[in-house]
Amino acid sequence: MAVSKVHPVEAIFEAAEAGVSLFGENRVQEFERKRPELVHLNQIEVHLIGHLQANKSAKAAELFSAIDTLDSLRLAERLNDAAQKLNRSLPVLLEIKLSPEATKTGLDPAGHELDELLDRMPDLSHLYVRGLMTIAPLDENPDSARNCFRQLRRLRDELAARHSRLNLSQLSMGMSGDFEIAIEEGSTMVRIGTALFGKREVRP
Ligand SMILES: *Cc1c(COP(=O)(O)O)cnc(C)c1O
Repeated sequence: MAVSKVHPVEAIFEAAEAGVSLFGENRVQEFERKRPELVHLNQIEVHLIGHLQANKSAKAAELFSAIDTLDSLRLAERLNDAAQKLNRSLPVLLEIKLSPEATKTGLDPAGHELDELLDRMPDLSHLYVRGLMTIAPLDENPDSARNCFRQLRRLRDELAARHSRLNLSQLSMGMSGDFEIAIEEGSTMVRIGTALFGKREVRP
């Protein structure tokens, strides 16, 4: 996945021209601004990879091909309602918080809500769960990234055994600084921004 957040639509055109078909954006409003210019690129998919507030779920269900940061039961219910109104099936990944940093969002891997959400999934008929996503700790130690990716894969294996009706085949993990390690640990979707598009400007 090419992470095009902050970069202009020209960067998306260029990447699409070079054969990239999967993009990640982390803000609903930013992508809402970009999307009108991208309509003729009908072969690309754009996933939301940033935190989604429940009050923006209708907009997100309309704009994105998939939501890779589902992190609560409440949000799942809101997204399911929104997808139902749009008469579409919305693919989702559950974001798991494996890093102690306070700013990171995601479901607690040991909490009740995760199992509750997976139990509810078959009833949320307009959501289609495909796997898990996580962001590794931002420190420079490659062992902490590896640990994190390994934990996500193990958690996926456990959850898949407990919820055998669900498909949890996708593991979205790894960014520019740690994607090789993520692939070694079983990533099926690395999310690459800087290594493809260069450094991002600081947001105003
Ligand atoms: C920005 C972002 C990326 C890409 O990060 P790089 O280090 O620039 O590759 C990946 N995943 C998420 C969730 C992001 O917000």
